[in-house]
Amino acid sequence: MSGEWYEDGLRFECTQCGACCTGAPGYVNFSEAEGRAIAARLGVSFEEFLARYTVDHGSLRSLAEVKTRHGYDCVFLDRATMPGKAVCTLYGDRPLQCRTFPFWPENLKSASAWKRAARECEGIGRGGFVAIEDIRIQRDAQQARDATIRH
Ligand code: SF4
Repeated sequence: MSGEWYEDGLRFECTQCGACCTGAPGYVNFSEAEGRAIAARLGVSFEEFLARYTVDHGSLRSLAEVKTRHGYDCVFLDRATMPGKAVCTLYGDRPLQCRTFPFWPENLKSASAWKRAARECEGIGRGGFVAIEDIRIQRDAQQARDATIRH
């Protein structure tokens, strides 16, 4: 695909504010391979990981959430270790959905969709430019994953 409105790249730098990992109840989908990697990281069996840290929503299984004063935090979000920051304790093994944010197809649909996403994510518009090639990789990976769970 060519001629995207963001062909010159987009600025993004995560500040670890945690806004994308909380808020209204949501879903963090993961593949079986991702789930197994997380289980190994936690030192538990895959079955124990599923039972303790995930919720079955029917069409998909999500990482669990914990109600906090910020909203519904991902169960793996750590707000205690670094004051003022929200740290993902799975970082190296976080699911694709988290790796590709904010370069999701719905956020890239138009400049105004990107602007709307920036209201939730303070990292949008900060830092250096992410090149179009990198954006496409993340966008297309997320699109492919979406296709596996939304029908
Ligand atoms: S909302 Fe944006 S800046 Fe904040 S943690 Fe998520 S990706 Fe990073």
